[in-house]
Amino acid sequence: MHYSNIIGGDAASGDGSVENVNPSDTRDVIGTFARARPETVDAAVVAARAALPRWSTSTPGERHDILRRASDEVLSRKDELGRALSREEGKTLAEGVGEAVRAGQVLAFFAGEALRQTGELVPSVRPEVEVAITREAMGVVGIITPWNFPIAIPAWKIAPALAWGNTVVFKPAELAPHSAWLLVEILNRAGLPEGVLNLVMGQGRQVGQAMIDHPGIEAISFTGSVATGRGIAAGCVAATPMKKVQLEMGGKNPFVVLDDADLDTAVEAAVQGAFFSTGQRCTASSRLIVTEEIHDRFVAAMRDRIAALRIGNALEPETEIGPVVDESQLATNEKYLAIGRGEGATLAQGGRRLNLDAPGFYLEPALFTEVRNDMRIAREEIFGPVAAVIRVKDYEEALDVANDTEFGLSAGIATTSLKHATHFRRHAEAGMVMVNLPTAGVDYHVPFGGRKASSYGPREQGALAREFYTIVKTAYVAS
Ligand code: NAP
Repeated sequence: MHYSNIIGGDAASGDGSVENVNPSDTRDVIGTFARARPETVDAAVVAARAALPRWSTSTPGERHDILRRASDEVLSRKDELGRALSREEGKTLAEGVGEAVRAGQVLAFFAGEALRQTGELVPSVRPEVEVAITREAMGVVGIITPWNFPIAIPAWKIAPALAWGNTVVFKPAELAPHSAWLLVEILNRAGLPEGVLNLVMGQGRQVGQAMIDHPGIEAISFTGSVATGRGIAAGCVAATPMKKVQLEMGGKNPFVVLDDADLDTAVEAAVQGAFFSTGQRCTASSRLIVTEEIHDRFVAAMRDRIAALRIGNALEPETEIGPVVDESQLATNEKYLAIGRGEGATLAQGGRRLNLDAPGFYLEPALFTEVRNDMRIAREEIFGPVAAVIRVKDYEEALDVANDTEFGLSAGIATTSLKHATHFRRHAEAGMVMVNLPTAGVDYHVPFGGRKASSYGPREQGALAREFYTIVKTAYVAS
């Protein structure tokens, strides 16, 4: 099947196309997907601008109802969407269905937020003057997303943009456009007026860049790597008019295991955090920072647990770890396995490319030990099933190592000490802190994001999402 760009509610023709395959079995072709040209982006912006006056003045009730209908459809089709996610990205079926459910919940949450739009009337310091503080839609928002959460991340950007009256030009990652396409179709069918939500697929360097450069887009919300994010921020500031920008980027998330931790809890959280979703999560626990006394027991238990993980076709219900997303990502993982060995770390478990029955991009989850925090495998985001164990003396050293990174997305600790858990919650340099839980795995109704190189601009998700998707206006009215 061919999937076209969607502009003004209709399929756009005249673009190039690219084939997308299932990473669990590359013989399985998902479809061909349009590759937009700069003129396509222009047409999408024209449609989004034309739709803006009507949509930005629509009632909150109308926006609520449409988002709610879309949520209901996503939730009722969760198994089909979960399967589509598994098939295009390689996450397990359970993870795929979980992601589809999350997208549905996010849509419902922002349907509710549409009804909660508030302003304030405050007395002025001047007599006979009132000050009205209101929030307005920004205009046309450009949304650029990565391949690892192809429906949840678009949902948590598109839903608040629409809830607060903006229109949207959306570019999903070229590696995983199918579920993004399905989401746009569902939202349009739920009743969005034509032109409110437009989909342009294709390569970031062309399509994404055309969005950054386009004078008809007021703001860009991006999720992806730090390198791409930096370029986008620079482009948004250099553009005329200057664009508001929000960036969610990578992580090198620490998971601290203290001597007093419950070993089973620590191992389960570390395995889930490091290897579920094949380690392809910005919140993956890629650095496991372990104190002396528990270190050897923790490593032994991790090795056993990793060896027992069922790696295979993501569409098989019993699979726990699917493939990585493509050949290039597999090569990057293997490059870092070689770097780690070269740096003197010990590959304690896994790390072999697997040839299973179906041709796919399979890699055994890998555990490095004897890692120092100044090694590249401890500093650079690998974005795959490769974790590094760093041995430390005590809690104080563990916290120093945890914070010694350019990133600051999620940080976790396994401990039974309330004192250390509380201290860590306060002093971990991360936007999200997990106590006795994996660093990955977050709720859909509270803020998501980090600090340092992991995030730039206002938070995503939860009620705070409105900081990015609205403009504050302060009006002084003399009577
Ligand atoms: P990426 O290579 O930075 O791409 C992200 C998106 O940007 C894709 O749609 C890409 O298009 C587009 N893009 C690439 N170059 C561009 C340019 N010059 N101008 C405009 N757009 C451009 O990231 P990825 O490999 O897809 O995703 C993995 C990264 O995302 C990891 O670093 C991960 O940590 C991060 N991530 C962060 C979060 C978070 O919330 N903090 C969540 C998930 C993932 P194409 O790829 O289609 O060419």
